[in-house]
Amino acid sequence: MSTSRKLEVRVQPGDVLGVIEEYTPGTGVFTDNDGVLRSSVAGLAVFDPNHKTVHVKPLKDVRLPRAGSSVLGVVTALKHDSVSVELYGILSLSPTVSWVGELYGILSGFIPISQVSAEFVKDIYEYFRPGDLIIARTLNSSNPYQLSTKQPQYGVVYTLCSYCLKPMEPITQKTLKCPICGRVETRKISILASSKVLQVNVRRLIAVKRW
Ligand SMILES: [Zn+2]
Repeated sequence: MSTSRKLEVRVQPGDVLGVIEEYTPGTGVFTDNDGVLRSSVAGLAVFDPNHKTVHVKPLKDVRLPRAGSSVLGVVTALKHDSVSVELYGILSLSPTVSWVGELYGILSGFIPISQVSAEFVKDIYEYFRPGDLIIARTLNSSNPYQLSTKQPQYGVVYTLCSYCLKPMEPITQKTLKCPICGRVETRKISILASSKVLQVNVRRLIAVKRW
């Protein structure tokens, strides 16, 4: 039986590694909506032609969320039973809010409806909307991450008025008001939303990512 050598290639987050029909994805690899395998981290992609697998060994300085990490992300889509989130950074929330680092991989997560809030959630649209910036807790340690915003420190930290596209300001634990048109919307709002460290990093990321 003949065997082929493994091939190792330096890759950046998002680089195409192949398609799902060619390789079974391992760690550091995610499958996009078109069935294309992409690296989720910067590192060394290892292609094993014998076992038809590919995984990416991350560079040592790349940090990834672990179970129990606090992450900053943007809501990309809502379904009646879950919220899809793209992850952009890691935070530490105790003893005070501090920024741990930006995530250079294309990491994603989802909040099942049961993890949205400590209260019973009837309509998920009253808690999140696409485009909201949120902080959430990771429940597992690999991509895609299962997330939770049940605890009071987690939830929306930045959102825009649906009409004016201006940042809205929290007026109660559950509602925000647009300072321009006065529109009021409901969300699952993080009690840390007004934290200065958080808002500084939110604005920096908005500038970089052009949300
Ligand atoms: Zn408005």
